[in-house]
Amino acid sequence: MRAAVGAEPEGTRGHQALMVIAQNIDQAESGEAPICQDTGMPTFEIKVPLGLDQIWMKGRIREAVAEATRRGKLRPNSVDSITGKNSGDNLGPGTPVIHFEQWERDDIEMRLILKGGGCENTNVQYSVPVELAHLGRADRTLEGVRKCILHAVWQAQGKGCSPGALGVCIGGDRTAGYQHAKEQLFRTLDDVNPDPTLAGLEAQIMATVNGLGVGPMGFGGQVSLIGCKIGALNRLPASFFVSVAYDCWAFRRLGVTLDAKTGAIRGWLYREGKSELMLAPGQADAGFPRTGREIALRAPIDEATIRSLEVGDVVLISGRMYTGRDAVHTHLMKHEPPVDLRGGVLYHCGPVMLKEGERWRVVAAGPTTSIREEPYQGEVIKRYGLRAVIGKGGMGAKTLAALKEHGAVYLNAIGGAAQFYARTIERVDGVSLLEFGTPEAMWHLETRDFPAIVTMDAHGNSLHQVVEESSARALAGMRG
Ligand code: SF4
Repeated sequence: MRAAVGAEPEGTRGHQALMVIAQNIDQAESGEAPICQDTGMPTFEIKVPLGLDQIWMKGRIREAVAEATRRGKLRPNSVDSITGKNSGDNLGPGTPVIHFEQWERDDIEMRLILKGGGCENTNVQYSVPVELAHLGRADRTLEGVRKCILHAVWQAQGKGCSPGALGVCIGGDRTAGYQHAKEQLFRTLDDVNPDPTLAGLEAQIMATVNGLGVGPMGFGGQVSLIGCKIGALNRLPASFFVSVAYDCWAFRRLGVTLDAKTGAIRGWLYREGKSELMLAPGQADAGFPRTGREIALRAPIDEATIRSLEVGDVVLISGRMYTGRDAVHTHLMKHEPPVDLRGGVLYHCGPVMLKEGERWRVVAAGPTTSIREEPYQGEVIKRYGLRAVIGKGGMGAKTLAALKEHGAVYLNAIGGAAQFYARTIERVDGVSLLEFGTPEAMWHLETRDFPAIVTMDAHGNSLHQVVEESSARALAGMRG
């Protein structure tokens, strides 16, 4: 990420986004707080010597996950898929994910990855041969695999909080392919693939992919990917899958080796450079890197002010903001809002919150991926008079039309910058719809100088559309 910051020219949107991310990384480090509010699906990959009691180990892992959730280190992220109820402790069928494998060593190796929903939703699996937009046919060759990987980065745009890292599996069946792709994400970014063919493909991807110009958060720029790790599995003669696991810049992994007899920690993995900060000491709270062109807004906001904004404007929002994501949007399609939203700002955010006495404290509060609300957003803006929607990754044509018709803007906050944004929230003034669980409730937040970029304005312009089209042209130039 330090290399990424250095690659984006100062004063560009990409550089501003990365500077926010850099501050966020240092703030999370110094506060031992979640680097992003979406603490993801806890996924454990464990190697054990023969004869170890895996049932006992699973029990301890589940206890630890529940405790980390209680302490506000993990957001309650386990939702019953039938009832929609959040279990509240990150435990439930399939949560956490725990895989064991036996090996011939006498110690235990345990690795954990926390991969959030935004990047998980951008995972993709290709069944080749396949026709790919802008790239043409991808065959059952390494060249076809190359095309699939480039296509995966292009279609993710900023939705997975770019710059991201890819784990790729060539072959396998659908299930094993995705699993092996995710396993590649446990490799360190600077390792070299022991298979020279795959090492060559990884190098080829990294040498060209940033030419797509997707850039940080999909704002356009020089850095779209920070790593690409490729593995391969044998396949059935009739199948040829290319599975791509996309991880965001937050790229949270941790590992430990344990003495199998005593449980003592023998060593940590991924802890190199732990004490190294991204920025110089004292810069972690420098705030949004300003250019002097920022526009201060106070919510509620009037229509004329909103209509005067244009794509590319950077705004600093103070005043009341309400959170609302999937459950709130579904609710608002059938019920009146619990608060007056006229002139209001709706933040696509599922924060990590802690109750301290009678008051709630924001532990982490970055934006969530907005495109999920595309089926509802235009209608919600129209019905309730919202003037601004904040999220990440952009929204589609329906929302763009509604912004124009009803006088509203879409603001892109910096994805994953949960500590940074938590510091812009002065207090929590209340909460509605808490029965949906803390990530899905409607929180009433009082903010000060909350920075975001107008990426869809009330004149029908969308930065996301522009970047998608220009990166599509770049992609077409990589057809080979
Ligand atoms: S950084 Fe972005 S993609 Fe990653 S977990 Fe956070 S919100 Fe999701």
